[in-house]
Formats: sequence, C-alpha cells, structure tokens
Amino acid sequence: MASVNYLETRIDVYAYLVIAKSDVLLIDTGVGEGNRYIERIYEPCRSPIADELARYGLLTTDVSVVVNSHLHFDHCGNNQLFPGAEIFVQADELSAARTPRYTVTEWFDYDGARLNTVSGDMEITAGVKLLSSPGHTPGHQSVLVETDSGNILVAAQAAYTAEEYQRGGDVTQAHQGLEEQYLRTISQLKSNMAHEIYFSHDSTAATCTR
Ligand SMILES: [Zn+2]
Repeated sequence: MASVNYLETRIDVYAYLVIAKSDVLLIDTGVGEGNRYIERIYEPCRSPIADELARYGLLTTDVSVVVNSHLHFDHCGNNQLFPGAEIFVQADELSAARTPRYTVTEWFDYDGARLNTVSGDMEITAGVKLLSSPGHTPGHQSVLVETDSGNILVAAQAAYTAEEYQRGGDVTQAHQGLEEQYLRTISQLKSNMAHEIYFSHDSTAATCTR
C-alpha cells in the first residue's frame, strides 16, 4: 500500500484488510503525512488507503477495527483516517512508543484516538484473534484469521520476509535485547499451523512449515 526509499533501497509497506462476519478490520495503516523528517529521509510513495478500500466497495467509515501490529511510523501513520474504529494495540507497545525517538507520536496519540490496549492473546471479533508476538518490538502483535479453508496468519513484522520466517528467523530485525524472544515468537507463530502467512514488508506469503 506504500513504499519508502531509504539509503537507495525501496521498502514496501503493506496493510491488510480482513472482512469478518461482524467487523471490517484493517491491520496497520501505513506511513502518514506531514512529518518533514520522514518525508526527507524516506521519500514515501503512497497508495491511498481510501482508494484501496474502494476497490472492495468499502469506505474508511466501514472500518470498525484497526489493529496496529506495532507503532513504528510505517505501521500506524494513518490511524486518524478511521475515527470510528477501535484501535487495538498491545500495552507493552504503547509504553515503548511513548519513549523518545520510537515513532511519530502524533500519528497514534491524538485527540479522539480510540486506543484499546491488550496484554497477550485475545479474540477481538468472531474468528479473528490477536497473537502477542514480541521481538521486532516489545509489544508486536500478529493476527490469526479463521477462514472456511483454514487459518491465515498476518504475521506482520514478526519476521521481515517469508523466506526468513520459513528458516526460523534472523535476529537482525529484532529490537535490541529481544533477539531470543524474536526467534521464540517465530517458532510459536508456526505452531498455529496457518496455511498462509503474510508480512508487512514482503508481498510473498509463506506457507505452513514447522
Ligand atoms: Zn517495524
């Protein structure tokens, strides 16, 4: 849904839409606008979320739940486009994000943000479960979705790529001090036996492996 250029490298940033029985959920909201530092350093190129939703016949007001996998600037930047949505974030992530230089604070901490903090795993609507998956950040979370054809996991940035996930993880993407946790998380996520696994920065889906 967006990409950023950093040190001449293009990094894709994906958000995921889940249409559940009684809720429309958006997992992550991409890079926001108006921050001079982000514009200068990353030169983001955006595909507006409203346009992407329109492809499915949806308006931003149809989104009832936003899940932030974590609060780095490229995952929560457009939360404000969804004033009617409840925003689910892990309590540990919210604490981390309120420390200096972690993210763009105003992109998640603004008047009227309906932040709903969670500690650990939780079913948020029928068939959709948050899974605590710390490692990349202190309060990273992933989303497990039950479908008629089996479980789908949006791992988000619990691993950087499908290939990395499948070989068990590479701690270069871990938050400092959480390297072991990062690897443990990948192994725990694999135990859900999801048949398709999706990532924030890789358009390739992983398939079920142990
Ligand atoms: Zn991140």
